[in-house]
Amino acid sequence: PDARPAYKRILLKLSGEALMGDGEFGIDPQVIGRIADEVAHINRLGVQIGMVIGGGNLFRGAGLASAGMDRVTGDHMGMLATVMNSLALQDALERIGIFARVMSAIRINQVCEDYIRRRAIRHLEKGRVVIFAAGTGNPFFTTDSAASLRAIEINADVMLKATKVDGIYSADPLKDPAAERFTQLTYDEALRRNLQVMDATAIVMCKEHAMPLKVFNLNNPGEIVRAVCGEDVGTTVVR
Ligand code: UDP
Repeated sequence: PDARPAYKRILLKLSGEALMGDGEFGIDPQVIGRIADEVAHINRLGVQIGMVIGGGNLFRGAGLASAGMDRVTGDHMGMLATVMNSLALQDALERIGIFARVMSAIRINQVCEDYIRRRAIRHLEKGRVVIFAAGTGNPFFTTDSAASLRAIEINADVMLKATKVDGIYSADPLKDPAAERFTQLTYDEALRRNLQVMDATAIVMCKEHAMPLKVFNLNNPGEIVRAVCGEDVGTTVVR
């Protein structure tokens, strides 16, 4: 509770799957409530928070395409899925008294705001959590790429990627017991060793703009707070 934040402005990326909890699909209200509590905690520490949420708990374009759907249509559905997740998170935050705004890369401005960079920064400066929805607004991209793009655009001090594992490993820790966790890594190493950090587009964006990335486990309670307070959790990727 007395911990001090190490960053003034962050971009926090959650996968859509993070919202499922133990389920197979959809949003677990308890899980989203817990995430909102942790975000509220760092908001009250004065950290400016931008967020990107994936849509994999609902739809993924690639998955729909492999079942026969047109890929671009599938990606549109995936992007709309991220809007639904973003609305759910906005609601969970507002229920506990945190001001939040969803800003969509695709215009659906009866549901949420359009993404306008200067307006987003204004919200951040006023202490509102900004949830960037609909990814980049383009098919064939991922929400990881959207997260690195927004992190760079808003001049975040760090991009925090919350996952289901404790950081970046030399191999998949769920499959290989000899896998070791890195505490620090460079973007070039991540690319060269083909470590499953994020897709290459997202990594290259971060690398070119020297955006530091921290990958950590969302399932460890309090981990978002520890990551924001600069504690040695997960893996840090730097240029
Ligand atoms: N998507 C897209 N463009 C973007 C971001 C996302 O088309 O800029 C679509 C894509 O179909 C993707 C889906 O939205 O599969 C959900 O995003 P993602 O797979 O990144 O979600 P996550 O794996 O983080 O839950």
